[in-house]
Amino acid sequence: MEIKMTTKNDFIQVGVAEVDITPDYPIRLSGYGSRRTESDGIIQRIWAKALAIGSDTDGPVVLVTVENCGLPDELTEEVSHRVREKTGVSRANFVTCFTHTHSAPCLTNAAAFLFSSDIPSHQQQTIDRYTDQLKNWMEAVALEALANREPSKLTWSIGELGFAKNRRTEGGPVDHSLPCLQVRGLGGHLRAVWASYACHCTTLAGTDNHICGDWAGYAQEAIQNTLPGVTALITIGCGADANPESRMMPMPDGQEEVFNTRLAYAQAHGEALSEEVQRLLVSDTTPLPSVPTGAFERVTLPFDTLPTREEWEARVAEGGSRTYHARKHLETLQRGEPIQTELSYPVQTWIFGEELAVVFLASEVVVDYSLRLKRELDVERLWVGAYANAFPCYIPSERVLAEGGYEGGGAMLYFGPPTPFAPGVEQLVIDTVHKLLPDGFLAESQ
Ligand SMILES: [Zn+2]
Repeated sequence: MEIKMTTKNDFIQVGVAEVDITPDYPIRLSGYGSRRTESDGIIQRIWAKALAIGSDTDGPVVLVTVENCGLPDELTEEVSHRVREKTGVSRANFVTCFTHTHSAPCLTNAAAFLFSSDIPSHQQQTIDRYTDQLKNWMEAVALEALANREPSKLTWSIGELGFAKNRRTEGGPVDHSLPCLQVRGLGGHLRAVWASYACHCTTLAGTDNHICGDWAGYAQEAIQNTLPGVTALITIGCGADANPESRMMPMPDGQEEVFNTRLAYAQAHGEALSEEVQRLLVSDTTPLPSVPTGAFERVTLPFDTLPTREEWEARVAEGGSRTYHARKHLETLQRGEPIQTELSYPVQTWIFGEELAVVFLASEVVVDYSLRLKRELDVERLWVGAYANAFPCYIPSERVLAEGGYEGGGAMLYFGPPTPFAPGVEQLVIDTVHKLLPDGFLAESQ
């Protein structure tokens, strides 16, 4: 693979931008199936942010972060297409990440079965309206970051943060690493930080119905309050089976008291992340003198054997949690349309010379993936991200698939795919990551 060398003096062109994406109207919020009404108001405003790295000669890369539960594949493709038409930034060089806050607007075609009932058409129109606005905002913020590029230096390091806990098994595996990239301008002043942490953005619960960025939003706010003029971008690692520890703590009596307690925890988790970033800012970091090279590939992940029409009918007849999901698939058959048998899963990497490989896995990826990649690849030069590009369903490891439960396949009822994945999903994803990375990133022992 060709490695792009830097412009002189190790300065590279970097642009940063942000745009407020808070709707000024009530809208159904995604994340929790129990909510049935449009939002009650705004606790914290939500943002889309962009980082553009590289001059036009280098071939720039663009990261767009969005405070939302999940971005549909086709939405990322459309925004990428628009940005490519206007600037030439390739699909491999364009990535979207979402914070997975469970207190942000529903998007058209994201987790379509979440509520186990059809969304009323007047509410769906509002969701469609917001989805269109969001696409425009994402395009605009990407273009703005490209437009305001100026000479900068990039460095990175890995911190550690402890509030993520395995939510399937007490004491189960987690990834507490906090990779953090720093962008400094010509005079050495900090312009932006991008940090990633592997945990669900679910400090607030479904009993509340306000717009809020949850811990990731409060982390961005805390960093920016501490460092005025700096843009903070938070993305999420392989935290599909991790919750904030506060979700497992006892709560006081009374709905308002519970809400206030959860909100205080969300702010405290955000403050903790900000404090770890502050520590990294004054610690040793590794320079990144190369503009990253993007790579993008889709891998086909097969679902398990489809139920027969009779089995779908039996599930509808039985009532209960499987009924809505079965009815929607039966309706697909009745329209003479095929049921989805496989998923087209995007895998993306950004390679910063020989210094750093960033992996962007799509959707809700369990921690086993990052722990495995950190064994197979050089952990000192690896950043494993998830919740990128698309939001089709949970991506279980072979262990979690075999164990079953919510992340293993149960959540398909709310995302929409017909069945859990067929065995082999983990190897297909891992092989694709290896294919996109130069051999120089393999662990010494490989
Ligand atoms: Zn989730």
